Amino acid sequence: MPAERPGRVIWRNGTFMPWDDAVVHVNAVGHASVSAAFEGVHSYWSPDRSQLLGFRFRDHMRRLVDSLRMSRLQPAFDADELTAAAAELLSRVSVPGRDVYVRPWGFAVGLHREQMVPAGTPAEVVIDSWDFTSKLGRGTTCTLAVSSWPRTNANASPATMKVFSNYHNGRLGTIDARSRGADWPVFVNGNGEVTESSGACLAVVSDGVLSTPDLASGVLDSITRRTVLRLAAEAGVETLTRRIERTELYLADEVFLMGTAAEILPAVEIDGISVGDGHRAGPITRQLEELYHQVVRGAVTSYEEWLTPIKTGA
Ligand code: PMP
Repeated sequence: MPAERPGRVIWRNGTFMPWDDAVVHVNAVGHASVSAAFEGVHSYWSPDRSQLLGFRFRDHMRRLVDSLRMSRLQPAFDADELTAAAAELLSRVSVPGRDVYVRPWGFAVGLHREQMVPAGTPAEVVIDSWDFTSKLGRGTTCTLAVSSWPRTNANASPATMKVFSNYHNGRLGTIDARSRGADWPVFVNGNGEVTESSGACLAVVSDGVLSTPDLASGVLDSITRRTVLRLAAEAGVETLTRRIERTELYLADEVFLMGTAAEILPAVEIDGISVGDGHRAGPITRQLEELYHQVVRGAVTSYEEWLTPIKTGA
């Protein structure tokens, strides 16, 4: 597979190497993929500062290290080292004016033909990146369908681990939702309570109160969810993390997805039932989307701790 851009580099185990050279043997996939963990991280170009800003890099790297530890693999890098590596990668590959997606991930070293990769296996860690186009501020919406596949039981395969193997459940739910004409699934857990979508968390707004399923419902401890809870609270919106019944989805004034890739994505329909006016985001979702957009582009100074400025043009 040729590199998309001449000179493209990837970070692998502490060194930068040509993207085309970052290969593994075919026997290193398959069973080893079961234990592999990953992250999806955004960095946004700030027009005001003429600079690329990494968003909550350290929080994502901390979660990657935690997922690998929970997967009983041993990465040789800590969250601070991975944060610095991602920042340096972007300083080498990013182009002024472009937003960049960062994909750190880790997988078991070795050729694992046996079914069970043993606990304590060292993990390779890789950081790749590519340009993406943000949907923030464009009025983008989505439609949802409650998946006929329930969420994998959190006691069987914990949702707090961002491991590739959890995404099989997400994939089946997405295919199911698409077969019914919706964009994204909403999973319920074994108790019939709302959890999350396949690659994003979910919030409902009713009578001005923003609620999102609590972590014990079986959701990823999403960085965007944490961001939204803080932005909403500091903007004076009451927030709750709690169990949410499926029927609340159909009665809510506003519903939106939140995640690194989803950003803040308003839902206008669930299972064919309109949310709000059925066409556009409600007022609290719009307010939060605008605030989030300003924060990630570095236009609000009070959230500076979340931003990693990237030296470009090096
Ligand atoms: N839930 C799932 C299943 C996801 O894959 C993601 C995307 N990482 C999220 C929630 C949102 O997490 P974050 O805000 O950290 O990107």
